[in-house]
Amino acid sequence: MSIIDAHMVGDVQLKTLIDRQRLETRIAELAQELSRDYAETRPLLIGVLNGAAPSMMSLVAYWPQITRSDIDYDFVDVSSYYGQESSGCVRLIKDLNMDIAGRDVVLVEDIVDTGLTMQYLLAELSARRRIDMPVDYCGFAIDDLFVVGFGLDYNQRYRALDYIAVLE
Ligand code: IMP
Ligand code: MG
Repeated sequence: MSIIDAHMVGDVQLKTLIDRQRLETRIAELAQELSRDYAETRPLLIGVLNGAAPSMMSLVAYWPQITRSDIDYDFVDVSSYYGQESSGCVRLIKDLNMDIAGRDVVLVEDIVDTGLTMQYLLAELSARRRIDMPVDYCGFAIDDLFVVGFGLDYNQRYRALDYIAVLE
């Protein structure tokens, strides 16, 4: 994946990595794929605040109308503490409002970096469901860059951008 364009937003330079069109096209594909894979059940989509909010709402918007009434969504929030070691410690700071026992769960994350947040949530949520939760839908694989936009922040800024950019 390569930089599409570079522009100034205030006093920082943002380099567009994934534009709005490409995000929407891919999320629409994922919505189709998920709706087929979960056609026999009533999946519960769980988003991780705040970053996954735009992806979640976009996924729901592109979910085929015919099975739209079968899906539910909810959000959790976590905080990560990183010490001197590379291993982080993740803590749940907002739990689900819904009971997930017996549900097919799809975890919606903005980005998986070290994978610690995802690992923690999978362990936490699968313990409540008492069976494994396969999660295997990747929107985009990117290089090890720090990116912002479409939910992703830098010190809480840039989440509202409708594209994903590399922050310089
Ligand atoms: P983890 O390292 O996979 O546990 O990712 C933890 C969290 O860090 C993600 O859910 C994001 O909220 C945040 N994060 C990781 N990489 C980026 C990035 O490139 N931009 C913005 N946030 C990021
Ligand atoms: Mg996040």
